[in-house]
Amino acid sequence: MAAIILDGNRIAAQIKTEIGQEVCRLSDAGFRPGLAVILAGHNPASEIYVRNKVKSCEQLGILSESIGPPQSVSTKELLEIVGRLNQRDEIDGILVQLPLPEQVDAKSVLLAVAPEKDVDGFHPVNVGNLSTQRPGLVPCTPAGVIEILRRSNLPIEGRNAVVIGRSDIVGKPVAMLLLNNNATVTVCHSKTINIAQIARQADILVAAIGKPGFVTREFVKPGATVIDVGINKVTDKKEFERFFAGDTSRERTFLEKGSTLVGDVHPHVKELAGALTPVPGGVGPLTIAMLMANTVKACQMRRGKVARGRE
Ligand code: NAP
Repeated sequence: MAAIILDGNRIAAQIKTEIGQEVCRLSDAGFRPGLAVILAGHNPASEIYVRNKVKSCEQLGILSESIGPPQSVSTKELLEIVGRLNQRDEIDGILVQLPLPEQVDAKSVLLAVAPEKDVDGFHPVNVGNLSTQRPGLVPCTPAGVIEILRRSNLPIEGRNAVVIGRSDIVGKPVAMLLLNNNATVTVCHSKTINIAQIARQADILVAAIGKPGFVTREFVKPGATVIDVGINKVTDKKEFERFFAGDTSRERTFLEKGSTLVGDVHPHVKELAGALTPVPGGVGPLTIAMLMANTVKACQMRRGKVARGRE
């Protein structure tokens, strides 16, 4: 039987509706949440991401501000920008769009963001809060993975979860969130031996690798839930055929645009999995929704009891 397709666009829209209502309540109480996005230099992909983030803020009534220092910006200048944003009361969230220009020490810039305004959840204080189950800001994409499972009524507690990928941005925080939700978690990476065999033990399999179609049928226990975090652009016709041979509507778009997106999970896994996130339209839309949620949460945590409403 074919997998249930977990519709990330629908879940993200649901979350955004809830956030919009909370932003109204906060704004009425005099606490309009505010997000500042720093986009250094010119990177076409980053420009699209930032535009989408600003657009979501506008839709939900969140104050947004984009700051665009030039490609030649120094670490010191970026630290000053972050320092000023840390001081401004109307800014609840600060997002530094990655990648930063080569000459910039990205780690020190991320470390300079005040932990209570760190809506990406990358600051060591928030990483520590997550691993010790204290309140804090959780990275957006991993938080989105949990929302997909929760809102699709797919239980986590007691399940075997396997995460492929151990990056600080996705793999590790997803694993920690699954553990905090009482799954039994295994993390695989490029040095893991027999990944397919380990992955086949999973009730919940999360792929965050960055390799198109890496997870094939051999990795999947029949009926498992498969969450595909990967976003990979395919431009080569032969590679396209490897994934989408016979998919005429995909082929039409591929021929028109010259590319298509494929996840880290091979599309044929849908014949075996119990539930699967598509690419595009799976985890991707949740990332921006959770950024909006983090901005509201940062506002509530930072501006105290009145902003948090009923407790
Ligand atoms: P990353 O920093 O490059 O990490 C990739 C991880 O995969 C590493 O831990 C690496 O292992 C592991 N890996 C690489 N090759 C492997 C192999 N052959 N076998 C097993 N493990 C392997 O990437 P990332 O930032 O975590 O992103 C992963 C994917 O998610 C990318 O496609 C990215 O575009 C996508 N992504 C999507 C969203 C979204 O909004 N949906 C957000 C962020 C990222 P080692 O640690 O041993 O090197």
